[in-house]
Order: sequence, then structure tokens, then C-alpha cells
Amino acid sequence: MTLPVVAIVGRPNVGKSTLFNRVAGKRIAIVEDKPGVTRDRIYSRGDWSGREFHLIDTGGLEFGQQDEVIDHIRHQADLAIEEADVIVFAVDGREGMTTTDQEVARLLHRSNKPVVLAVNKLDHVKHYEEAYEFYRLGFEEVFPLSSLHGTGTGDLLDAIVAHFPPAAEEEYGEDIIRVSVIGRPNVGKSSLVNRILGEERVIVSPVAGTTRDAIDTPLRREGQDFVIIDTAGMRKRGKVYESTEKYSVIRALRAIERSDVAVVVLDGEEGVTEQDKRVAGIAHESGRAVLFAVNKWDAVEKDEKTMKRFRREVLDHFAFMDYAPVLFISAKTGQRVHQVLPAVQEAAEQHAMRISTSVLNQVLQDATMATPPPSVKGRRARLSYGTQVAVKPPAIALFVNDPELFHFSYIRYLENQLREAFGFKGTPIRLMLRKKN
Ligand code: GDP
Ligand code: GDP
Repeated sequence: MTLPVVAIVGRPNVGKSTLFNRVAGKRIAIVEDKPGVTRDRIYSRGDWSGREFHLIDTGGLEFGQQDEVIDHIRHQADLAIEEADVIVFAVDGREGMTTTDQEVARLLHRSNKPVVLAVNKLDHVKHYEEAYEFYRLGFEEVFPLSSLHGTGTGDLLDAIVAHFPPAAEEEYGEDIIRVSVIGRPNVGKSSLVNRILGEERVIVSPVAGTTRDAIDTPLRREGQDFVIIDTAGMRKRGKVYESTEKYSVIRALRAIERSDVAVVVLDGEEGVTEQDKRVAGIAHESGRAVLFAVNKWDAVEKDEKTMKRFRREVLDHFAFMDYAPVLFISAKTGQRVHQVLPAVQEAAEQHAMRISTSVLNQVLQDATMATPPPSVKGRRARLSYGTQVAVKPPAIALFVNDPELFHFSYIRYLENQLREAFGFKGTPIRLMLRKKN
């Protein structure tokens, strides 16, 4: 399911980040390999009146080297207009209206996206009348508020949520495998998609998706229907997108959300980068099936060990994703591209796999017999039984005497045993400890 996107725009120092932090609920944790590394905080998830949404602080985006504030804001506005369902335009109520605010307003009026105006820094109700002059900016919904104290933000959120499109229904049937092809710019995503579409056994169906500006490409291979999500986003080029590293993360996130399987494209020539890790981490954390396609393999100088070495590099960098198959391909020559869809199909099947409770418990029993859960301070950990509670990804509830007694490493051991028994190739699995009553 795809969540609505809310973007906050406005000139520097009006309090966008403060508002962002106020409105943001749980952060999208982006996997970093080292503790202490600055985390990406431009993107977050919010929740109001039971509606979840994504929140983008466009002020936190980098747009290459731009000295001109107005240039920078223009990019912010473009991005918001492009990506958001609702735009929050933040201004400083204490400072009053500036010409830059008017300029931003002009940009936003050119789009037909709903805009709500947050007149910030009005920390006391007695100052709320300062908000009136901002009606001159031409927006109907004007909210005096204080991001610092949180007053007035509830009314703002009500207005934001009121503009959300109705909760999206499932766009495609259960039997269609939804695939996203993700990765940083220039790794060869669009080349790969074009190659796949050009493959002999692939039939491209002419029906196009209709979600926003996304163009999905439906196709069929040997009786199996697929849809490649957001091929438009892949082709989209422009100054803003090219200069904004984080933009591709946002785009990837939204494509991932709509898919069952994410094909993470890496550049075989350049190796694994931080940005690759972020994008792959999102796929993992969203519980999608994942496979790695190491592209440009034609351009890699190699001997008989190169593939093995690269595979190791991938495993090292994505240690938490060792379930994901790694393919070595060339979108340019077509080498092994025919393996991509079958691998996607297999991962999708594993992602949707259901294990019967009796078989599952047989495996769990064998596992706990071979290596019993360790005791902690004289208390013995006991696993009573497990049951699969969800698919896509498979989630298994483990009923235990005391969840506190189960160390991460033991859970990891159980996961490995389950993978050995059932495969689950290409899919993350979730193991959840539940206290047995
Ligand atoms: P941004 O550049 O638009 O992201 O602005 P920041 O969120 O970094 O805020 C700029 C400054 O305004 C900081 O010193 C904030 O503490 C302050 N600020 C933000 N919101 C409020 C508010 O509601 N009231 C007051 N008094 N100060 C605020
Ligand atoms: P995207 O930004 O990820 O969609 O990447 P593109 O598909 O636009 O490709 C970026 C560049 O890499 C283009 O110049 C492609 O011609 C080149 N490229 C893509 N795939 C391959 C490949 O398999 N081998 C080589 N040598 N170049 C490739």
C-alpha cells in the first residue's frame, strides 16, 4: 500500500525542521553499518487520526552547490510539487511576510497540489492575529501555530489529513508479481528494464498504471504476470533529481512500498557505496523480497575469482540481507538478464510462502534439541511452539516462557535453522517472541 506524502517547504529558519520533528512519528530507520554515523533525517513517517503518511523536510535536502536561497527554495518547491500529496508551506509569524515567502507562494500556486500554510513561531494565542497578513499569500487554509510548543499543530494535521486521497486500494491482483528496480542513479536501472522488456519470452502488455505520475509496466513471462513499478520514475531526468542524492532514496522508498520484490541494482564497476546500502536497507526493513543485480559485468575486468570476491563484498556490506540472491548481469550485452525474472518469481513465491504449524514445530523442536536456548542467571529459556502469523514477508510468532531470556544470537540461530529447512530464499523473515500465558 502506498502512503500519502506530505512535504514541508519554506525559507530557511522559519522552523521547518522543528515542525518536522513535531509532526514526525517513528522514523524510517535507515540501516547504517557503523553506530554514530549521522542518520538521514529528511524522511519520516507520521500518523494522525489513524492515517499514516510520509513526511519530507525538503529543507533538509541538498541540492548541490547553490548559494542563492531562492534557487534552493525553488528546487524544494519543485520537489514538493512533484512528490507530495499535500504541501505544508511554513512561514515565520513573528518576522512577518517577506518577499521570499511571496516568491515561494507564487511557485506553489502554479501547482494544483493542496497547500496548507503553517504560520509558525506564534508561541502564544495572543499572537495568533499575526497570522492574518499571510492570507495575502492567497492560500485558504492558514494555521497559526508553534512548532516549539506543539500548539496549533493538531489543527494543521487535521487539515493535512483531510486532503489525503482515499486510502488506496490494491491496484493489482494477488497473482501479479510487483517488482521494483531500485538503486542509485546511473547503475543501469532503465537499461536493465529495457533489456528485460526486449527479452524474447517477455510480452509487454499495453495497459499502463494510473497511480499519480507513476507508469507501471505490466508484462508476462511463461504464464506469469509481473508489473514493473514506476518505470517513469526511473526514466525521469532533470537537474533537481540528478543533483539530489536523497531524492533517489525517496523515489526508491515509494516504489518499494508498492512492490513485492525489489531488484537492487549495483554497479559492478564501482562496487558497493553508502547510497546502495541505504536503498537496500529500505527494501529489507519494509519486508520486501530482495535480489541483487550486479550490473555492468561486461565492463569489469575479471578472472575466475572476481565473481566470488564481489559476492563476498556484497555479503559483507549487506550482512543482514544474506538471504538475497546475487546475480551478475550486463544490461548492455544482455548477459544473464534472462535470469532476473525467474529469480524475481522465485523470491516472490518464497515471500508468500506458508508453512504449516505442524511442520514448523517439527523444525523448531529439532533446532531446540540440537542447541537448547541458553539459561540466563539460572533461568531456563523455553520455546513452547511457533506459528506463522503472516506472509509477505513470512512472520512467525514464537511462544516462549520469557522473551527477555532469548538473546539476539539465539533468534538468529533459529532463523538460520528455518532457512535451512524451508529456504525462504530472497525474502526476509520476521521472528517475533511472544510470552506464553
Ligand atoms: P528551518 O531552517 O526552517 O528548518 O528552521 P529550524 O526548525 O531549524 O528553526 C529555526 C529556529 O527557529 C530554531 O532556533 C528554532 O528553535 C526556532 N523555532 C522553530 N519553531 C519555533 C517556534 O514555534 N517558536 C519559536 N519561538 N521558535 C521556533
Ligand atoms: P539508471 O540511472 O540507473 O537508470 O542508469 P541507466 O540505465 O541510464 O544507465 C546509466 C549508464 O550506464 C548509461 O550510460 C548506460 O549506457 C550505462 N550502462 C547501463 N548498463 C550497462 C551495462 O551493463 N554495461 C555497461 N558497460 N554500461 C551500462
